[in-house]
Amino acid sequence: MRAVKSSKNKSTEEKLIAYFKENKITGWRRNYKVYGKPDFVLPDLRIAIFVDGCFWHGHNCRNTHPEQNKEYWQRKIGRNMARDKEVTDHLERLGWNVIRIWECEFLKKNRGLLEKRLKALYSKQRTDG
Ligand SMILES: [Zn+2]
Repeated sequence: MRAVKSSKNKSTEEKLIAYFKENKITGWRRNYKVYGKPDFVLPDLRIAIFVDGCFWHGHNCRNTHPEQNKEYWQRKIGRNMARDKEVTDHLERLGWNVIRIWECEFLKKNRGLLEKRLKALYSKQRTDG
């Protein structure tokens, strides 16, 4: 199945790194030791960013409708979604701002929305720093 390659989409993470660089967003870390293993963390701002693959995390977009073994995938994806929610809730209780970015938000047509969300982050950094 084409959609089932890996749970992490490397190129999506690379696109986010490129975005950080373009917009001079600094202070982010990867592999930061915090609950739930966010893909990126901005420790100074207590921002945790997850880049979620649409298929594995059950985004309701056209990337996510398996044709074969539907029930199997729905169970598996359902577990991932429950886990995502649990991680988000837990981090928020610890005082983190959790941002989840869908891989499809990197598509050209969705870029505006993504940039809006990231801009909010960026301006927070500017006013704080
Ligand atoms: Zn999606």
